[in-house]
Amino acid sequence: MSRNFDRRDFLRITGATAALAAAGCATMGGTKARVVVIGGGYGGATAAKYIRLWDPSIEVVMVERANIFTSCPISNLVLGGSKTMEDIRHSYDGLRRHGVQVVTDEVTAVDAAKKMVKLERGGDLKYDRLIVSPGIDFMFNEIAGYEDGMKSGRVLHAWKAGAQTIALQKQLAAMRDGGVFVLSVPLAPYRCPPGPYERASQVANYLKKNNRRAKVLILDANPDVTSKGPLFKKAWAELYPGMIEFRGNSKAIGVDAKTGTVKLEVEDVRGDVLNVVPPQRAGDIAMKAGLVTANNRWCGVDWRTTESTAVKGVHVLGDATLSAPGMPKSGSMANQQAKVCASAVVAMINGREPNPDPRIVNTCYSFVSDTEVIHVASVHELDAGKKTFVPIKGAGGVSSARNELEGKYGWAWAQNIWQDALG
Ligand SMILES: Cc1cc2nc3c(=O)[nH]c(=O)nc-3n(C[C@H](O)[C@H](O)[C@H](O)COP(=O)(O)OP(=O)(O)OC[C@H]3O[C@@H](n4cnc5c(N)ncnc54)[C@H](O)[C@@H]3O)c2cc1C
Repeated sequence: MSRNFDRRDFLRITGATAALAAAGCATMGGTKARVVVIGGGYGGATAAKYIRLWDPSIEVVMVERANIFTSCPISNLVLGGSKTMEDIRHSYDGLRRHGVQVVTDEVTAVDAAKKMVKLERGGDLKYDRLIVSPGIDFMFNEIAGYEDGMKSGRVLHAWKAGAQTIALQKQLAAMRDGGVFVLSVPLAPYRCPPGPYERASQVANYLKKNNRRAKVLILDANPDVTSKGPLFKKAWAELYPGMIEFRGNSKAIGVDAKTGTVKLEVEDVRGDVLNVVPPQRAGDIAMKAGLVTANNRWCGVDWRTTESTAVKGVHVLGDATLSAPGMPKSGSMANQQAKVCASAVVAMINGREPNPDPRIVNTCYSFVSDTEVIHVASVHELDAGKKTFVPIKGAGGVSSARNELEGKYGWAWAQNIWQDALG
């Protein structure tokens, strides 16, 4: 250390030490380096675990605001009624067993010059390398009246699994006989391209059993279904005839909670349940840390290492990144990116070259009923010249038809990825 140690430094370090002590953790002394991870979702949890697996002499501190992991994948099945919130919640104890120091707190700022993050409750944390996987936050101001509508409880997105998933399930169950469930989809790119259409299927699945005359109205800002379109449309026509109406080019520009109205550019549409998913961008902390480089929304990275193109020593993962061509914003992808990142971080800390040729795979299963599933898969390789991933032609594809075997694969995928990221 080149400068003097003052009272402020003492308070910072004791604050951070208190946070680590509360998490049952060691401090930095005696370890090779400290990696701090912001966010314990699909990207952050996987990166934290794999760094410890691949080099246990690196100290890993993961800061996550929630004390439990709640999965967006499978959360649509909670609306459909075949799974519960308990099914999608998992503890962070598995990570602790790998020696990851899990701190339940909010990171409020990143000081990249001092290599330090600020915690809301527990002082500051120094790092040698920082991994930021904060997921998304919403651009509420793109839809007039959204925040008031959400505060009143009348307008929900349920696009981060948790309290809103429970609230939306309650509204669905309480919907009047023959009511209309409006699902508004933002323009791509957004978190989980097939997610809205799986949700429409699951809501119809619930209504078919409990409110047969009710309808699901999809108001999609995109011209057509953005993922697995023919497979979803066939499932809707055959499993839920007359129950799901799809309207493309129907971008929500406002909501009126009092009248139950979604305002489109050309008309107003009324509904009984308003499930309006707003446009999205990288999580707030990525914005505050100066990591956002594209359209004021997403974080550019060098895909060989996932290191930010804006801030050295900081890696970004998952939904917050500016997606490479053909790369969806998915839990599957965040988990794979996290392994590229973990491998690069371990190499860089140990003075080795990161893997020059990483390949990663994405698979998204969508449940169109309790048991039947359709999938989309893709494989991506690094184009070293362009410093980005590109899809490998001919690898991947979609299901030939919905089927129950893939229903078993879909549930197994979820259990495997939870075990891989958290177990
Ligand atoms: C309805 C729905 C269904 C989906 N289904 C699938 C599917 O079937 N398959 C699939 O692969 N993907 C699916 N997804 C997409 C998947 O959920 C996301 O792509 C994935 O969660 C992205 O991982 P992430 O690490 O970027 O973000 P997240 O998993 O959201 O993790 C971010 C974490 O960071 C924490 N955080 C943020 N800021 C801070 C801060 N400042 N301090 C502390 N903590 C912070 C948050 O609390 C959160 O836990 C679905 C999404 C939705 C909404």
